[in-house]
Amino acid sequence: MNKDMDIKSLSLDELTLEVEKMGEKAFRAKQLYEWMHVKMARNYDVMTNIPKKLRECLARDYPYISLKEVTVQISKIDGTRKYLFALPDGNYVESVWMQYHHGNSVCISSQVGCRMGCRFCASTLEGLERNLTPSEMLDQIYAISKSTGERVSNIVVMGTGEPLDNYDNLLRFIHMVTDENGLNISQRSITVSTCGIVENMRRLADEKLQITLALSLHGSTQEKRRELMPVANKYDINEVIAACRYYYEQTGRRVTFEYSLVGGVNDTDEDADNLCSLVGDLNCHINLIPVNPIQERDYIASERRDILNFKNKLEKKHINVTIRREMGRDIDGACGQLRRRLRLTSPVSDQMES
Ligand code: SF4
Repeated sequence: MNKDMDIKSLSLDELTLEVEKMGEKAFRAKQLYEWMHVKMARNYDVMTNIPKKLRECLARDYPYISLKEVTVQISKIDGTRKYLFALPDGNYVESVWMQYHHGNSVCISSQVGCRMGCRFCASTLEGLERNLTPSEMLDQIYAISKSTGERVSNIVVMGTGEPLDNYDNLLRFIHMVTDENGLNISQRSITVSTCGIVENMRRLADEKLQITLALSLHGSTQEKRRELMPVANKYDINEVIAACRYYYEQTGRRVTFEYSLVGGVNDTDEDADNLCSLVGDLNCHINLIPVNPIQERDYIASERRDILNFKNKLEKKHINVTIRREMGRDIDGACGQLRRRLRLTSPVSDQMES
């Protein structure tokens, strides 16, 4: 028995050992794992093929992580859903569900808050509160699957938090969500976005997974990047690009560069030229993102004309580039704003009861 043990973050092998320690047969672990990670049970009570007595022991000794849906905003334009979930300790996380022609995609958070301080991001305004556990990352997907009644086919770790600042939990999450005994999502359907923590990008490359690495680049020179992203004070832009190259060499996976266009800050012809020189020889894809305005910062989105001009310049150099389709424009608000607004307007205890 271990009251601190997060049962939903255990691999099937670890769970089997734990169940055997309780004096139960190994097949009970398989049943339990299936309830947690295939049927996405919200509590022990519904696990009807597990004897009631065992369920009672489990409920007493092993807390069951299940996120509570606090609010969901549904876009009238494209059906995108933005969820706010309450964690067991009273913190909140945001996740987004999007429908594309190739399947349903969920964007999950990896931390409560973030310490990276990117200037265009609302998630970091109050710093990092804590890391999310593997089960809390998994349960964002499970809760959304249950709520929509639809299968999730793609996962993007691009919500609040820097995933590579929570490396071990992220890796466990990836192994569990791709486990054939669990949701069995293909590694190729997972994208992890980083602001560029070089040593962990290289570590991730060495794992030789088939997931897509997306780098939040946002500036095409060291100076520009430093203006927008304090993490650039620690890692030079060339070091970061070298780590992307290494990722491609180790995994054979094309790297995606995320480039948020901020009006008058990084959307000029010169910026586009510098970007071409920086990544032009890499097998990559560039995703241009019209930045979301946030109240607390005075950044504005680029004009449509400037976005198209920027894109054309890259295409002329034969770089793969897309403009990110804006999903859920009518329910928008930059990532992190929902959680923040809730914290500012009402004490956590009130919200937990609502
Ligand atoms: S953009 Fe990502 S890494 Fe940067 S502060 Fe926001 S959540 Fe953190």
